[in-house]
Amino acid sequence: MNISIGVTVATSRFFSQEKTLGLFEEIKTNRLNAIEFGLLNCVIGRTNIPGTVPFPSEKQSKDIINQFSLQECYTSVHGPYRISATSEDPKKLKYSKSTLSATLKVTDWLNGHHVTFHAGSFKRKHNNAHVQKVMKEWEEWRQQKGFKAKLAPEVGGKYNSFADFFTLVEIASTIDNCLITWDISHDFARGGIVTTEDGVLKRLEAIDQTWNDLSPINRLPMHFSGMVVGKAGEKHHVPLDKGTGVPWKLIFSVLKEQNYLDKVNLICESKVPKKSKLKGNAITDAVRAREFMTSDQLVKEYKGKPGHLDYYFS
Ligand SMILES: [Zn+2]
Repeated sequence: MNISIGVTVATSRFFSQEKTLGLFEEIKTNRLNAIEFGLLNCVIGRTNIPGTVPFPSEKQSKDIINQFSLQECYTSVHGPYRISATSEDPKKLKYSKSTLSATLKVTDWLNGHHVTFHAGSFKRKHNNAHVQKVMKEWEEWRQQKGFKAKLAPEVGGKYNSFADFFTLVEIASTIDNCLITWDISHDFARGGIVTTEDGVLKRLEAIDQTWNDLSPINRLPMHFSGMVVGKAGEKHHVPLDKGTGVPWKLIFSVLKEQNYLDKVNLICESKVPKKSKLKGNAITDAVRAREFMTSDQLVKEYKGKPGHLDYYFS
């Protein structure tokens, strides 16, 4: 069993060398072997909008890998929030593509296997055929440009966000080389049935039908964390077993039994919200999850309460 598991590290042109060094040391001490570089607030061009930062430079990106000897780590990037494949406004799509272009460039510098990104906005109804067209065009363009990192749109956590697990798999299945990021906490928060063994197996079946080349060097991206769920789905991330009871032990048990741990890359997104008194962090949760996966423990039944959800997809 070759588990790839780690955490997110925020990166930008202005990242603090000292802070990041401490984080990498902690990652290494805990023998975590995957890192997702978060470029969430990075923007192209002028960065005079509060909260936005420029992308890291080529030198900075390559230095991160070399100075911290991260060559052995399975790396990926979480793209900026500003990328949207659901917009039908040509100007916004053009801006998304430019942002994606900068992201892919940085991801290749960071040896990243894929770019995870939120595919779109919060709307009651999305035009799936439109998103498929956009994603297909982006993928063809990515290949033409010779970017190595693959595209991996993420399962959204809010009921109205784009998109649920099966919609994303369906879209990705029509596009060469396109992956998805299966965030199990988002899937749970938006009403996906990941609370039963059957529901999880159905997802693995869909994955098997879509990607037959998953391996330790080409893994399906997955995210996990605790999560507070409200009526509209995701509210915010929290440490594991806090919040609304994400069924991570059940899901990881199924992955274990189905020999799936060699085929997925697990990134822990646990977070203590500002001003909260909760304890824990992504690194200790990733270690906990790994301990569970390498133990003989199996959890077959979900005993949590799925929160306030009164709707379920599939
Ligand atoms: Zn996520």
